Amino acid sequence: MTPIKLAIVAPCYNEAEMLPISLPRLLSLLDSMTREGKVSADSFLLLVNDGSRDSTWQIITEAHERDKRCHGLNLSCNVGHQNAIMAGMLTAVDGVGMADAVVTIDADLQDPLECIPEMVDNYYDGYDVVYGVRTSRQSDSFIKRFTAECFYKLQSQLGLKTIYNHADFRFMSRRVVIELEKYEERNLYLRGIVPMIGYPSTTVDETRMAREAGETKYTWRKMLRLAFDGITSFSVRPMYMILTLGMLFVLVGIGIGIYVVVSLLKGVAVPGWSSLMLSLWIVGGVMLMAIGLVGLYVGKVYIETKHRPRYHVEQYLH
Ligand code: UDP
Ligand code: MG
Repeated sequence: MTPIKLAIVAPCYNEAEMLPISLPRLLSLLDSMTREGKVSADSFLLLVNDGSRDSTWQIITEAHERDKRCHGLNLSCNVGHQNAIMAGMLTAVDGVGMADAVVTIDADLQDPLECIPEMVDNYYDGYDVVYGVRTSRQSDSFIKRFTAECFYKLQSQLGLKTIYNHADFRFMSRRVVIELEKYEERNLYLRGIVPMIGYPSTTVDETRMAREAGETKYTWRKMLRLAFDGITSFSVRPMYMILTLGMLFVLVGIGIGIYVVVSLLKGVAVPGWSSLMLSLWIVGGVMLMAIGLVGLYVGKVYIETKHRPRYHVEQYLH
């Protein structure tokens, strides 16, 4: 069997501290896989610079000069982790890169590289998608672990077909990436889309490691946004939940209304004022919540209808 041409795609946002550590490791992995005949000699790394403000792009350029297997994709500005991965994958399989398959891995290499040869083996066994699943996240802080796991559980409750504890460490064959391109949404949540494509898939277990250098680029704001995208892009169930809640409160409101009328007829209306005010606030609150939620979806419709490009390439070093 001829070895495949593999592209290892890594999004980089302000990773000047981490890249000098990551690059040699990635290259030596390519070396050993080439030696073992798992991947072809023209397999490459594709480092996507997601509008970094530090010297990340300079490091990538220098790496490219030293070793032509380091490709660099410079995006014109910061478009976020998910879009950066998408840019990298599409570039890796297009006319220039022509990779047979891609692996996406964060530039901080918190996911173990040793899993990649195993992923490639799975490809030879007939799988198009191999998900890296975090079996142990002891290196994550308690709060990160807790919020992440609650989120994965919530997703499955909402009827989303996602892989539990799988982030974006993933192997995909060329045809999966080509199918992926057909999903034109801007609120990109790859973990939700890839399972929808439905080609044969399997998982490999991994232990998530601590970041060795630099700080997390996922601020709470970015993480929260990803979580909202992950839910609202795939499920309308929250809307129904709020709707049900709203109806429940209307029923309670009617009950309170009857109570107020009865106490009025009985001539004891004064105490009714407080309960009326109370229900006013509850109903008001629910309304606001519901409007906010509907607004969230409307906002998405607004963004999607514009069909804006997801990213702009400034330069491609190959
Ligand atoms: N990243 C990116 N664009 C962003 C934020 C993050 O390309 O706007 C990259 C970052 O360089 C890293 C990966 O996404 O390679 C994951 O980020 P990080 O490791 O900081 O997140 P964590 O592992 O802490 O969730
Ligand atoms: Mg990380």
